[in-house]
Amino acid sequence: MSKKELKFNSKTIHGGQHPDAAYGAVMPPIYQTSTYAQPTPGGHKGFEYSRGANPTRTALENAVASLENGNYGMAFGSGMAAIDAVIKLLGPGDEVICTSDLYGGSYRLFKGVFEKYGIKFRFSDMVDMKALASQIDQNTKLVWVETPTNPMMNIIDIKAVAKVTKAKNVLLAVDNTFATPYLQRPLDLGADLVMHSATKYLGGHSDVVVGALVVKDEKLAEQLYFIQKSSGGICGPMDSFLTLRGIKTLHVRMQRHCENGEVIAKYLKAHPKVEKVYWPGFTSHPNHKIAKEQMSGFGGMISFIPMGANYDEAIKIVERLNIFTLAESLGGVESLVGHPASMSHGSIPKEEREKNGVVDALIRLSVGIEDVDDLISDLEQALN
Ligand SMILES: *Cc1c(COP(=O)(O)O)cnc(C)c1O
Repeated sequence: MSKKELKFNSKTIHGGQHPDAAYGAVMPPIYQTSTYAQPTPGGHKGFEYSRGANPTRTALENAVASLENGNYGMAFGSGMAAIDAVIKLLGPGDEVICTSDLYGGSYRLFKGVFEKYGIKFRFSDMVDMKALASQIDQNTKLVWVETPTNPMMNIIDIKAVAKVTKAKNVLLAVDNTFATPYLQRPLDLGADLVMHSATKYLGGHSDVVVGALVVKDEKLAEQLYFIQKSSGGICGPMDSFLTLRGIKTLHVRMQRHCENGEVIAKYLKAHPKVEKVYWPGFTSHPNHKIAKEQMSGFGGMISFIPMGANYDEAIKIVERLNIFTLAESLGGVESLVGHPASMSHGSIPKEEREKNGVVDALIRLSVGIEDVDDLISDLEQALN
C-alpha cells in the first residue's frame, strides 16, 4: 500500500516519512548542520547547504504536503515568512484580493510592507461570488482566503471561490491555519496553494514558530522553492523536528479540540451573561451550511461578546480566567484566551476592525484539550 493511499489518521504518523537511511531512526534525526561534505564538487546527496534544503526540514515539508493532499511542501521560520514568500510571486502593479476579516499580521504585512513595493491589496467579504468576480481585473493575480476567519469565524466557500479564480485565471491561496487539514483540505476544493501557521494546531504545543506552504503544481512549487532559497526565511532543523512530532498527534488533538469546542460554544450560548457567540457549528451561524460541507468538524476556536460589556469589562473577564491563559496565539493543547481589539488585531485601525465585527468587547477562546468540566468552571467564575 502506497503512503499516498493512507487514511488521514495514518498520514499524520507516516505521510511523507520513512525511517532514516543511515541508522533506521524511526523519527527523522535533527540534522543540526549548515553544510554537507561533497566527495567531489557538486557530488552531493541532494543536500548542499541548509538554506536550500535540510533533511529534517524536508521531512516536515513532505509530511505537511501529504496531509494537504499536495505534491510539494515548503517550511518557513514563521507563518508570516510563508505568506511573505507567496506575495513575492507578484510584482509592482499586481493586485491581491483578500478576505476582509483577515489575520492582523497578514493585514500588517500586506498594507505595511508590500504596498510600498507597488502591490495593491483589496478586500472582499467573499460572500457574493458575482461581486468577487467583478472585483477581479487584469491586474489581479491572487485571491487570498482565510476560513474560518479570525476572530469572527466567518466561513468562506472555497469551492465557489475556486470556480471564480479558475475562470479568471487567478491563483487562489487559502490560509488553513484555523481548520488544519484534519477538518478542511483546500487543494481538494480547488485552491492552488495552502498556507499554515504551523505555530498553531500543526505544531500544537506552543513551542515553535513555524510556517508552511503546500501546492500541487510543479511550476508553482519551483517558483516558491526559488523564493524560499533566495530570501532564506526557512525553518530550522530543531523546529522542523518539533513540528513533525506535533503533527503525529494532530488527529487525536483535533478530535478533542472539536469535542471541547462544541461543549463550550453551547455553554456560552445558553449563558445569561453572554450576548453573542461566534462558532460555525451553530445551525444559526450564517455560513453553517458551507461549514458543514467543506469541514469535517467545527474546531475549538470560539469568539463571544459578554452581555452589555465594553472594552474595560472584557479585559476584566479575560484577566479573571485562570485555566485559559491570557496570551497571543492559538491551537496548542492548552486553552488560551485573547482580546482581539488590544492584542491580535491591535494593528488594524479601530474603524476598519469594527466594520468586520471586531468590537472592543469581543473575546476569543482557543479551546484546548483539558478536561472540559475544568474549562467550564473557569469560564463560570470569570463571567459571574
Ligand atoms: C498566527 C497566524 C498567522 C501567522 O503565523 P506566525 O507563525 O505567527 O508567523 C497567519 N495566519 C493565521 C490565521 C494565524 O493564526
